[in-house]
Amino acid sequence: MPDLHFTNGTVWTGTETATSLAVSGGRIVSRPSPGATVVDLQGGLLMPSFGDGHAHPMFGGLEAQGPQIKGLTTVAEIVAEVGRHAAEHPSLEWIVGGSYDPSLAPFGEFDARWLDEAVADRPVVLRAYDYHTVWCNTAALERAGIGPSTPDPRLGWIVRRPDGSPLGTLREWHACDLVLDLVPAKSMDELVEGLAEAGRTMAAAGITWVQDAWVEPSMVEAYLEAARRGALRFRANLAFRADPDTWTAQRPAFSSLRETVKRAGEALVTANTVKFFADGVIEGGTAAMLEPYVDVPHSCGMPVWEPTALAEAVAAFDADGFQVHIHAIGDGGIRAALDAVERAARENPAWDRRPVIAHTQLVDPADLPRFAQLGVIANFEPLWAQLDPLQTELTVPRLGPSRADLQYPMRTLRELGVALSFGSDWPVSSHEPLLGIQIATTRQTLDGAGEAWTPDERLSVEDALAAYTSGVAYQAFAEADRGALDTGKAADLVWLSADPRAEDPLRLRHIKVLGTWLAGERTF
Ligand SMILES: [Zn+2]
Repeated sequence: MPDLHFTNGTVWTGTETATSLAVSGGRIVSRPSPGATVVDLQGGLLMPSFGDGHAHPMFGGLEAQGPQIKGLTTVAEIVAEVGRHAAEHPSLEWIVGGSYDPSLAPFGEFDARWLDEAVADRPVVLRAYDYHTVWCNTAALERAGIGPSTPDPRLGWIVRRPDGSPLGTLREWHACDLVLDLVPAKSMDELVEGLAEAGRTMAAAGITWVQDAWVEPSMVEAYLEAARRGALRFRANLAFRADPDTWTAQRPAFSSLRETVKRAGEALVTANTVKFFADGVIEGGTAAMLEPYVDVPHSCGMPVWEPTALAEAVAAFDADGFQVHIHAIGDGGIRAALDAVERAARENPAWDRRPVIAHTQLVDPADLPRFAQLGVIANFEPLWAQLDPLQTELTVPRLGPSRADLQYPMRTLRELGVALSFGSDWPVSSHEPLLGIQIATTRQTLDGAGEAWTPDERLSVEDALAAYTSGVAYQAFAEADRGALDTGKAADLVWLSADPRAEDPLRLRHIKVLGTWLAGERTF
C-alpha cells in the first residue's frame, strides 16, 4: 500500500485541527516519507472515518439481490416491483425482499392478497424495514401451514382477518420464522457478495467499522471467507444473538465461534459480543413499556425475555467475557436491560465490560442516572430522532405526547457522563452518518421543515461527530487504535467536501464523502 501525504485542506484529528496528515504502512506517521503519494484534499476535510455502532451489513447487502422495495412510497409500487423481480427470475423458488416501509398501510397491517396480484405461483416474503415484521403472500402462508387454526407462537403473532384467517402480516420473529425458516439458504458466494455489497455501501458513506448486531452462526464463515477473498472492505465485530429458549446451549457454541474467529486471524473480523433483544419496537406495539400503550390500553408490549431470565443470561455471557449488546426500546425494556447489566456487575468479577444498550428510545427519567453508574454505552440511531411519519403515524399515537417527548435523550445522557455511540441499524434506516449527524444536531426532519422536536436534546456537531468516531471506537474496545488521527493509529480516514463544524446544521446532509481509507487503503 502506498505511503500518503494529505495536503491542501483541513485535517481534524478528533481533538485538534491541522493542515496535513502523513500515512505509512497503513498507520498515521508524524511526517511524510519521501516519495509519498500526495492526496490533494481540495479544501475539504480529512477526519477519522465513521463507525456504525449498530447495523446489519449482511441483511443490507443481501437486499440488493432481491426486489428493490426499500424507499418505495406506495403499496402499489412495492407490489409492482415484486412482480417485476419475479418475472425477471422465473426459476427463483422464493421471492425474498426488504425493507418495505411499514407505515404505508394502516397499523402496518399488509394483506397477502395484495402480493398475490403480482405473484401467486411462488411464495413471497418481504421484511419490513424494522426487521421485526414480515409481509407474505398466500403461497408463503400455505407453505408454512399458517391457517385460521394456527395458534400464535409464544413470541410473536399472526395478524388476522375478522374471521381469524391470517392476513399476511407476521409480527416478531417467532412468527416471522414460521415462514423465514422455509426460505432456502443462500450459497457462500451469495453471502460473500452480500458482504461485498455492504462494504461498497458503507465505504461510500465514509464507514470503516461496523458492529454487526445480529449474526447467526452460519454467517461467521461468510465473514471469514469474505476476508480471505479480499471481498470484505470494512472492519466488523460480530454479535451472536442469544435466544431466550436456547441460550444455555448457545453459550458454549458462541465461545467456540469466538475462538474460530480468533484462530482465523483475519484482522478485520472480531466476534466479541452477544446480542439480546429485550423487547420489540414501539411502532409495532411490541416494545416493553412500564405503562400501557395509549392505543391498546390492556397492553404493555411484549418483552422478549422474562426480566430475571434476561439478567441471568446477560450475567452468564458476561462471565464468559462477552460484551453484551442489548436492543432495548421501551422504558420497560430499558429498565430490564439496566437491571441485567447491574446483576452481571454485581455477580461477576470486575472487568472492562462496556455493555451497550442499543436504540435507547424511551428511557424512564428514574433510569437515566443508571447508565453512567453502570458504565453502559448508550447507542442511538440518530436518524430516528425526528418527527417523521414513523413517529407521527405509528409511534406518538401509541405513546401519547408526554411520553413521546422522552424519546432519545442524547444530550441528557451525554451531560450525565454517559459514553455515546451512534449507528444506523441499516438496512432499517439509511446508513449515512452525515444524515444522522444532521438530525442529532437539529432534531428536525431532514428537509429542515418545522420546529426542532425536543430541542434540549440536540447535540453539538462535535459531540455528534464523536459519537460516530471515538464513541464507536470505544464501543469496539479499539480507542488505542482508531477513532482519532494520532500518530501510530490506523489510517482509517474519511475525506469530506466540507467541515461539518463550519456548516449550517440544516445543510450537513449536503456534505459529500469524497474518499474513504481503511488502514491506508482506499475503499472509496
Ligand atoms: Zn438492529
